[in-house]
Amino acid sequence: MKKISIVVPCYNEEEALPFFYQEVEKIVSNMKVEVEYIFVNDGSRDKTLELLRELAKQDKKVRYISFSRNFGKEAAMLAGLDAASGDYITTMDADLQDPPELLIEMYHALEEEDYDICAAKSKSRNGYSFLRKTFTKWFYKIIAHISKTEMVDGARDFRLMKREVVDAIISMREYNRYSKGLFSFVGFKTKWLEFENKERVAGTTTWNFWKLFKYAIDGIVAFSTAPLIVSALAGIILCFASFLMIIFIVVRTLICGDPVSGWPSLVCIIFFLSGIQLFATGVIGEYLAKLYLEVKNRPIYIVKETEKDLK
Ligand code: UDP
Ligand code: MG
Repeated sequence: MKKISIVVPCYNEEEALPFFYQEVEKIVSNMKVEVEYIFVNDGSRDKTLELLRELAKQDKKVRYISFSRNFGKEAAMLAGLDAASGDYITTMDADLQDPPELLIEMYHALEEEDYDICAAKSKSRNGYSFLRKTFTKWFYKIIAHISKTEMVDGARDFRLMKREVVDAIISMREYNRYSKGLFSFVGFKTKWLEFENKERVAGTTTWNFWKLFKYAIDGIVAFSTAPLIVSALAGIILCFASFLMIIFIVVRTLICGDPVSGWPSLVCIIFFLSGIQLFATGVIGEYLAKLYLEVKNRPIYIVKETEKDLK
């Protein structure tokens, strides 16, 4: 019998967790598999940890890892994948936005159809704001052009993977983790299942627009160097333009003399150029900052407590 590890990052999910556990239990109890839950408490400020302790006491299948503070969803997923011992491993959100019934189909794809990964992709973005929908659409359009790693629009982090895939993912110990990119970077044969996006069962999303924007920048910096090339190109183009302008001005002065005028346009040009320079420096700074964090080699997460500490 195959063993499935269910990795669930949880940040302030006291309201959603009981529903999640019930629903997933309903599904997996009908599948002929052994199950292990790995809940990762990502520094929640509510009763998530207490709930997890209770669950672990009641049900031997439940394991949990509790962080010393909030390290973010990416770190939580990595901790779960590190700890997972199953033959097949799935990552799911705690809010039931990832329909657990898809697990049956995913399991079938890995068992019978020779796929290594079966991943879920939402057809629509119901339950998210208009701003977030538009912004996400543009993000995928841009990243498709500037990165060699393919990012699938609408792809969720919900997927069932074989052991080999997970081993490949956890072998990448980078600090700036952008899992949609990492998942796609490792390759393997993937089957996509489409589903209608649902609203959270309880609780609220912890992602605001600013957090998502930074996450998108992380994704771009982690999987593309195009912004660096763009700023270099802009530099070259501007140099060339100013060269033409110099020739034009010299020739005009020789022909028409030199009436002193045009300083407003000069100010505009200075403003424009310093803007571009600052922007380019900012872009370089962004890469440098990431490099700095990688070089420090700090742990990606710090564990404070696991189910083994329960007495
Ligand atoms: N999450 C986490 N750490 C964080 C933020 C979120 O572990 O810092 C978890 C959260 O508990 C949930 C999943 O990541 O299980 C997805 O979060 P959420 O539902 O808030 O995101 P959305 O569905 O809005 O993208
Ligand atoms: Mg959610």
